[in-house]
Amino acid sequence: MTDDTTRGDVRLTGIGKTYGSFTAVHPLDLTIPEGSFFALLGASGCGKTTTLRMIAGLEEPTSGTVHLGAQDVTALPPYKRPVNTVFQSYALFPHLDIHENVAFGLRRRGIKSVKKQVGEMLDLVQLGDKAKHKPHQLSGGQQQRVAVARALINHPRVLLLDEPLGALDLKLRRQMQLELKRIQTEVGITFVHVTHDQEEAMTMADQVAVMNAGRVEQLGAPADLYENPGTTFVANFLGTSNLIEAEIAGQDGDTLTLKAGDGKLVLPAARCSAPTSTGGKVLVGIRPEKISLAHADDAGEIPTGRNRLTGRVTATSFIGVSTQYVIDSPVCAGLEVYVQNVERDGRLAPGAEVVLHWNPEHTFGLDAAQAID
Ligand code: ATP
Repeated sequence: MTDDTTRGDVRLTGIGKTYGSFTAVHPLDLTIPEGSFFALLGASGCGKTTTLRMIAGLEEPTSGTVHLGAQDVTALPPYKRPVNTVFQSYALFPHLDIHENVAFGLRRRGIKSVKKQVGEMLDLVQLGDKAKHKPHQLSGGQQQRVAVARALINHPRVLLLDEPLGALDLKLRRQMQLELKRIQTEVGITFVHVTHDQEEAMTMADQVAVMNAGRVEQLGAPADLYENPGTTFVANFLGTSNLIEAEIAGQDGDTLTLKAGDGKLVLPAARCSAPTSTGGKVLVGIRPEKISLAHADDAGEIPTGRNRLTGRVTATSFIGVSTQYVIDSPVCAGLEVYVQNVERDGRLAPGAEVVLHWNPEHTFGLDAAQAID
């Protein structure tokens, strides 16, 4: 089959995996665009590694097909697929120096003259000066970069990364996230990265598939997923969300009016993924950093057109760039609010009566029939 529109995309069609009566991955369709940095994100056990291993050919799917561009690779063994995998464990050869670790894939193919290619690859991962070192003489982050160089030496079309930064401490993880992103941009091939760390996925990926219990719950660019989560699971997995129960009171043009207890909120209809008929129940979502806080005495100064809720501060904590407030409102207890770049205001101490307010455009509406995960 020739299909120019798919170029070198990775296309999963109805791909699924069961172990006995347990379904690890429900049949799913997914297209990973050629040249993209793509993340499979989800909690432990959601099926992301199994999905990655089916792309690699390390796991035989129970159903469905894997295409690389126009080629159906479903029946090909791993070594015949133009893909390579980097694991969390690095899997470097301890007795070989870094140069020989990276050269391994070339030598196995019978290529004798490897110096130039290995040198270029070590330069790519900024380890040109470590060629003669043994793996144990390198830091964890450096060893992981060797593993990436070794996986790239044979020019795969797709690099699969299975929690590659999982063994690193937080600071090194953050550095390596930027480093991997730089390497991917430089080589321009497709990277498929498995992680349970939402910040990691958001930092590196062009597109993220959020997985939950063997299914892709939502697919999109990081900012889109964050600003427009389609389910409570995604809203809570990617950062913190305040979810307020409300009922649809009516619609005025493009705007829904909602009743939340005694309060009234508005929500652009386009930002509501729940059914919008009057009387329907929705969860109104608002991110903590999108909310502003005013002392009740200053409520008159809040501009018109903003959503408002009254409440009382129950706790505050200074967390560096912002101050976190926890607010109990008559319509929702434990609302979280992060306020950045303000002097800590003594009047907003625990016990203070406050008004929370925000731009309705920053609100999203979810189906209240879903469980809150
Ligand atoms: P983690 O981050 O912990 O690796 P994951 O999202 O990558 O999690 P998978 O490794 O894909 O999850 O596993 C998905 C589910 O399938 C898990 O419940 C796991 O226990 C199960 N599973 C994986 N491999 C097997 C196997 N060989 N036999 C039986 N069950 C398996």
